[in-house]
Amino acid sequence: MQEPTMSSMFYKNKGRGSYKLSITTKLNSHVFLTKENRIRLINLLNNDAPGVVKLQWDLSNKEHVENRDQFLYENGLDIKSDDIRCKWSIRYSTQTMVIKQCICGSYREKNIESNSRVSAARYPYVGCLAFVKISLCNNKICAIFEYLEHSEQSKISQPQRDPIYQLLLYVKKNVETLLNLNVSTADILAQNAKMVRSVFGKQTSIGNSRTLLTTIDITNIKGQLLQKNWGINIKNDTAKNLEQFLGPDANQSELKEACLHYQPRIKETDRLEIIISTREQQKCAWKYGHQNLILIDGTFGVSKNKLLLFIIMVIDENNKGIPISFIIFTPPSQNRLTSSGYDSNILEQLLIIFRDRISTIYNQNHFSKNQNATAITFSHLIAMTNTDVKERKALLKQLGRGGENNIVLQRQTLKAYLSNLLKEAWSTDSDEDMVRKFIKEKKELLKTIIYKAENASNETKKVLDGGVRFFTYLEKQWAGNLLHSWCFNGQKRAAKSLGISLEKLPTTNNHLEELNAYLKNNQINRFQRNNHLLRADVLYVVLVNEIIPNILALRNLVNELEQEKAERRKEFNIMDPSDRKILQQEFSQIAYLAPSPKRDESAKRLLQMNKVINYEIEQTTGKVFVQVESETTLHLVYTICVYGQPTEICCQCLDFLQKGIMCKHLCAAALYIDELRQQEQHAHLPEMIFATHQEAQNIRRNLCTNKPEILISHTNDNGDDDISDENGTNSDDEDTDDESNNQVHNNNNFISAPSNRILNYMERILGIQHTPMTMLSASSPAQTQSRPNTPDVAGLNASAVYEQEFQDFLVSTSKSLHILQENLKALENLVQFNQETEQISIKDQYNLMSHLCNIATSESFKNAQQLTNVMHESINPQKRNAPIAGILPLEQEKKKRRLPFYKSY
Ligand SMILES: [Zn+2]
Ligand SMILES: [Zn+2]
Repeated sequence: MQEPTMSSMFYKNKGRGSYKLSITTKLNSHVFLTKENRIRLINLLNNDAPGVVKLQWDLSNKEHVENRDQFLYENGLDIKSDDIRCKWSIRYSTQTMVIKQCICGSYREKNIESNSRVSAARYPYVGCLAFVKISLCNNKICAIFEYLEHSEQSKISQPQRDPIYQLLLYVKKNVETLLNLNVSTADILAQNAKMVRSVFGKQTSIGNSRTLLTTIDITNIKGQLLQKNWGINIKNDTAKNLEQFLGPDANQSELKEACLHYQPRIKETDRLEIIISTREQQKCAWKYGHQNLILIDGTFGVSKNKLLLFIIMVIDENNKGIPISFIIFTPPSQNRLTSSGYDSNILEQLLIIFRDRISTIYNQNHFSKNQNATAITFSHLIAMTNTDVKERKALLKQLGRGGENNIVLQRQTLKAYLSNLLKEAWSTDSDEDMVRKFIKEKKELLKTIIYKAENASNETKKVLDGGVRFFTYLEKQWAGNLLHSWCFNGQKRAAKSLGISLEKLPTTNNHLEELNAYLKNNQINRFQRNNHLLRADVLYVVLVNEIIPNILALRNLVNELEQEKAERRKEFNIMDPSDRKILQQEFSQIAYLAPSPKRDESAKRLLQMNKVINYEIEQTTGKVFVQVESETTLHLVYTICVYGQPTEICCQCLDFLQKGIMCKHLCAAALYIDELRQQEQHAHLPEMIFATHQEAQNIRRNLCTNKPEILISHTNDNGDDDISDENGTNSDDEDTDDESNNQVHNNNNFISAPSNRILNYMERILGIQHTPMTMLSASSPAQTQSRPNTPDVAGLNASAVYEQEFQDFLVSTSKSLHILQENLKALENLVQFNQETEQISIKDQYNLMSHLCNIATSESFKNAQQLTNVMHESINPQKRNAPIAGILPLEQEKKKRRLPFYKSY
């Protein structure tokens, strides 16, 4: 900014000794001026031209102070800076001096460049040269120097924009408080509106301050709070802030400590990688995740910069999920979309870093306490990813959207085909290599079809290419090292190594989706400004400082409460209801008879004590329930099923739930029913049959072998998890396998059609020869699962295509009908009125007219009409313009009725 000529001029000026005061006037470099004006101003100062001031006041002298105030008043230097009348803008300030410049002379290059936009300055730029240097003594003005002569244009210039109405400080403080309490923006605005009415007497501004809030105010205050509370300066670049928190020069803070791994994005090709695990999270990782199950899943749409957030989770003794690490990374730059922007290798690498880092930290801590400790490495048994939902999304994306009916049909068929292949791959009960091979083979097969379908249209080829791309995606994302955690065989091995049965292996959906929902709905949105996604630096800080501690603290508190409850239960000898539920659901027992004199005796005692209350027969199933009071716990009544399917016979006591043996309650209930049956009025009671231990085991074994079927159906159900936990292990389900499958797959018409059949069908509609499948049959489990009723694929396809359109049609038609009905009523009234008075009022005519107009122009009416035409066309293509019953007559009628009114106007 400073030029050599200028500084030499200063020097010359400084050297002049003719001033009364020792202080000289000089041009401050902070003042915004054009080159020419700068030279002009320097000349004016050098020549001590009129308008150059050098004033000093003795603040102990009353007269001096009065003079000073008068001077400030005359030059508008007493006006506050937020006042619209203030023409001075502060350029520079220290404890002892302030440089102010006339706004009319403040030259910024961008002012001239951006001529399309209205200048943001309060007063227009006219090249005024006025500027002052104000000296302060103890915060009081004691001297003023420099050039105070405004140009003529400056003197007459008027403000060119609204003054800035600052938010009243009281209101701002109030917003801060509410934001800290996590009150939503909408609620804060509502609260403010109330306050303006009640507290400020409907005054939306007081002086130059506003009392009424805007959304932008709240966004700004949120930004200021981020700075104030977390030290995040959102004016800085994200990468710069992250570097400041996590880089090599960062302070050893909690923020840095929580970061296990940080790789900044320096080059375009770099990937930002951050692994977060706070000290407490690491504790949980060792406690619940070491040599145990860990769950992994990604969540999208939590942050800007296309960031991917992966959560590693463990499950505690109460079956609650705890996040032990958050992994944040950017996808490689060539990937545009977040949901497919990673491959399993990246995640795999980051998992290894996570494992090594927490092991190092753990071992360092141990060595410092005990020098003989042996180093251990964190190891998890299995990581699972809920891929199914994402696969479906990917599937849709690869196959595209829209197109004519024929293309839609082809796309639907291919979608069904791929969807079933996924299911088949997942359920393949062989090792990962087989699954990889299976996917590869299917990809090659589809390529063959494309090759054969040489006469197909370009659109058709596009759809098929989409299918190949999906296989590529599948190979890249999931058929890598993470495959073991995804396929059925991997799950089976995981269950085995954990020593639990397969159906008890938690599906990732429940725990992770729960956490995802909690993160997005309760935590992350608190920090969002104006509903924008979080920046990476903000995401990091709020995760470490707020969200993770919150989640863990909440978990601890919930545990404490549960412990207290458990203590009370012990005190009163009450069984934990969740124990019972878990036992019933997870460890369904088959009641079996075993000789036990002790239990027989107890049963007799229960009968003698009149603890057996009554029985009930369920009419629909014929099941017999008996209520038996607990011997030890007062008022605790067990409901026991003594008659029904072997899996239905049960008691609610721990003895039964744990062992499945005929407990004293079951024995007592059986004795009770047996005795009753001797009496004539209870002779209809059935004879009870109980399984032997061997029989019970056989039944259990059969149940277990059927389980995988149920599991498959759950994992493939459009991501709807609610059924998997509740019914999956419920003993009621065991005979209704087919039924539950039908229920589950209502949404998917092809679910019971093996992929091979769909492929055949697809080849048929493409008009190409059938490809022999023999080479693939070995790896395709679908072959062995052939079902008796294969649906008519073509029919289902057509119905799937039209289903949605029909639904839309029905909705819009019913809307139109509703309007018509209303009009009919209006017409009837009108006719009646007409008959009575023999004339129609202009107002009624007008009303009816506008009603009818509304219908004719309504979107729903047009849609309905259009759709009817389209559908009619596709059914009878030759009768293109034939009127269609149901819709057109209404319009004709409407027109007929309209005519008389036109005449009357
Ligand atoms: Zn001026
Ligand atoms: Zn019992």
